[in-house]
Amino acid sequence: MKQPTTMLSSLQRAKDFEALDQQHFDVLIIGGGITGAGIALDASSRGLSNVLFEKQDFAAGTSSRSTKLIHGGLRYLKQLEIGLVREVGQERALLHRNAPHIVQPKQMLLPIIKEGSLGKTSTAFGLYVYDWLANVDDDERRTMHEKNEVMEMEPLLREDIIQAGGRYWEYQTDDARLTIEVLKTAISLGSHAFNYTEITDFLYNDDNKIIGAKIYDHIHQKAIVVYAQHIVNAAGPWVDTVRRKDDIVKGKRLHLTKGVHIVVPYNRLPLREAVYFDVQDGRMIFAIPRRKTTYIGTTDTFYPTNLSIEKPEVSLQDVEYLLKATNEMFPSTNLQIEDIVSSWVGLRPLIHEDGKSPSELSRKDEIFISSKGLISIAGGKLTGFRKMAERTIDVVVKQRYKQNKTPISTSATEDLKLSGGNFKNPEDIPNYITDLSNTYSQLQITEQQIHDLVYKYGTNTPHIIEIYQELLPKNTKLSTTQRLLLAELHYSIRHEMVTNLSDFLIRRTARLYFERETIEETYFLLLDELAKQLQWNKKQKLQYLREFEQEYQAVLSFIPQQA
Ligand SMILES: Cc1cc2nc3c(=O)[nH]c(=O)nc-3n(C[C@H](O)[C@H](O)[C@H](O)COP(=O)(O)OP(=O)(O)OC[C@H]3O[C@@H](n4cnc5c(N)ncnc54)[C@H](O)[C@@H]3O)c2cc1C
Repeated sequence: MKQPTTMLSSLQRAKDFEALDQQHFDVLIIGGGITGAGIALDASSRGLSNVLFEKQDFAAGTSSRSTKLIHGGLRYLKQLEIGLVREVGQERALLHRNAPHIVQPKQMLLPIIKEGSLGKTSTAFGLYVYDWLANVDDDERRTMHEKNEVMEMEPLLREDIIQAGGRYWEYQTDDARLTIEVLKTAISLGSHAFNYTEITDFLYNDDNKIIGAKIYDHIHQKAIVVYAQHIVNAAGPWVDTVRRKDDIVKGKRLHLTKGVHIVVPYNRLPLREAVYFDVQDGRMIFAIPRRKTTYIGTTDTFYPTNLSIEKPEVSLQDVEYLLKATNEMFPSTNLQIEDIVSSWVGLRPLIHEDGKSPSELSRKDEIFISSKGLISIAGGKLTGFRKMAERTIDVVVKQRYKQNKTPISTSATEDLKLSGGNFKNPEDIPNYITDLSNTYSQLQITEQQIHDLVYKYGTNTPHIIEIYQELLPKNTKLSTTQRLLLAELHYSIRHEMVTNLSDFLIRRTARLYFERETIEETYFLLLDELAKQLQWNKKQKLQYLREFEQEYQAVLSFIPQQA
């Protein structure tokens, strides 16, 4: 079997990084969230050499902290953002085709309530337009339902206020895994990417044009210099911080808003459907079943500029808002703060508009080019990352044409399967799972375990099973589940640049959010293996353990009030 590329290997990360010193690229990308990853992929798809640096782990910024929906953004229709809704709406099906293992259809129920923000006719019309703009297939078109049907679909809804409802389709994803699969695809086409590497300064030529950057590797504490003809700032909530390294920020600037999600055990909110429902303040939030949990979100509040962008925190007020809204819509559940088993918080890198509330700020992306040549991209959504990348690299190729008549190339990502998404049709996945289960039946791996792997790693799953087989003779005392976990860890060290427990348990596998209760019994096993593979000394091992434990506690620590 053909082995996947090893360029995202933690085992040779230090060597690969140092080899870049003084190298020249067509494009240097700052930020390894979904925006930067998409830009690397687009650049590689057009044959441009490129390198990406991420100061934390890949997706550790906003791209692991979203609602995890690939969606058209129904509420943007209300704000008449027709272009945005059309674009992201159409991207949904395309992403499902190219990465069906991590972008799956999800039916949504939209209850219409007395004195709510949606009327029966306006919802029927709105959902119709939504489907039409997104070119939705006939069998995925919205349906409208009377009260009794809505209550049958979701008996936990508050009956006395329900008037009717609509059902429509969105897609569910794992944002951080989508980011890593995009990056792995980019790497397979020639990109280079490194986590924990921070752009600290820019370099300029005699004409004061940007020509390179200094980069610091936080893991091996080494600095290098890399030159590039075009430098793209895709630093999400840090876009203005990076712009300020280049020049004073004039004109448009970012406006960060905070969004919180809480997770409860599925049996405390056993929804049959994902529900998008009204909150009393006029906003709408989601409650979405996932694995053995249901998650609820999001809030949308201005984020003060004096607080840390790296470590936003969940406040008691955020949690109480979400619990109150949920209990009002699903009264029999009576959720309490003690029911929460995990949470996450992210910052939306939106573009400032005078006088608008957080929810009114546009989710559109914009590109700014500084007088010295730094290209910055801000705003946007996870769902629209491919088109954002295309627009950014369009700017680059136009500049290249102007500078030296390099022929204009066009993006080639529309039909590009993402790493792990190498299925002929999305509908082939169940058969693929059965086939793998049959092939490996002698290994005692259950079909459910194969299923869980396939919906994370897609067609890369056989590589994990090969590693499992490799580990078998050395780990006879471990259970199948433990050995499989180690195989997953080895794969992610070798092919997804996992460098510590948090990378693995939060951004590669989302276990901290959706399976936190399983972590306690496994993390020492994982820690020991990481220490062995990455040759940590005792001090490093302790440091990484402490860092993970802080994150492990933080998802259940809610600060009293934020200034
Ligand atoms: C609560 C919430 C819910 C959302 N829900 C959805 C949803 O369901 N669907 C959807 O489509 N969108 C959603 N979004 C929007 C979406 O998550 C974001 O638009 C997207 O993740 C932004 O990605 P990004 O790559 O631009 O930023 P980020 O993911 O933040 O990436 C930027 C990266 O740049 C790095 N960086 C910063 N400075 C430097 C430097 N000097 N050197 C190197 N690296 C640097 C950071 O560490 C960071 O990782 C949601 C957002 C929030 C906050």
